[in-house]
Amino acid sequence: MNQVKNRMTAAEIMNHLNILFPNADCELVHHDAYTLAISVILSAQTTDAAVNKITPKLFEQYPTVFDLASAKQSDVERYIKSIGLFRNKAQNIIGFSKEVVSKHNGIVPNSFSKLIDLPGVGQKTANVILSVWYHVPRIAVDTHVNRVSKRLRLAYQNDDVFTVEKKLMKKFPKDQWSRLHHQMIFFGRYLCKSRNPECERCPFTSFCYYYKNNKKGV
Ligand code: SF4
Repeated sequence: MNQVKNRMTAAEIMNHLNILFPNADCELVHHDAYTLAISVILSAQTTDAAVNKITPKLFEQYPTVFDLASAKQSDVERYIKSIGLFRNKAQNIIGFSKEVVSKHNGIVPNSFSKLIDLPGVGQKTANVILSVWYHVPRIAVDTHVNRVSKRLRLAYQNDDVFTVEKKLMKKFPKDQWSRLHHQMIFFGRYLCKSRNPECERCPFTSFCYYYKNNKKGV
């Protein structure tokens, strides 16, 4: 296993995350690949909690991908208008549903190349669908994973998300990718927050890039 720069190995980082967040999992409420995919698309640049507030009524109105594929955009917008970029997102989730119906017989595909071709689906969304629903080992790099990776020196500060993903896949064992992805999200969401991270209770201060530059000696 690769050594993590400075003082902690990848295995040690995983051990700490296992202690901190043993039950980390997807927090988007879903019950099938369709509701997961739509929730992930809606979660771009907003919180899972905000998405979970609007999806019960959305999925009550459009319980299947076929229902959403034939929906009117203005109707869908009414259900999701409390989150940012709702017009674009309404267009994307309808477009996504239309193509799942027309190209994949209504089944959300389980391959990266087919998913990434669908409206509203980028690298992160495809990876989350594959990992959470289809149990394919992936590391989805969202804003939390990206920030945490850089603070823990698993990637350089100016690496893009694709490079971060590649570096994480190289450093950590494949059978841990999906678990690690959720644990890094929880770590970033609940402890190593963007502003005011709770460094007092963090096991990684000895080599953390942010701590060294912002908090050491404070
Ligand atoms: S020391 Fe602070 S900034 Fe660094 S990883 Fe821990 S919580 Fe995040």
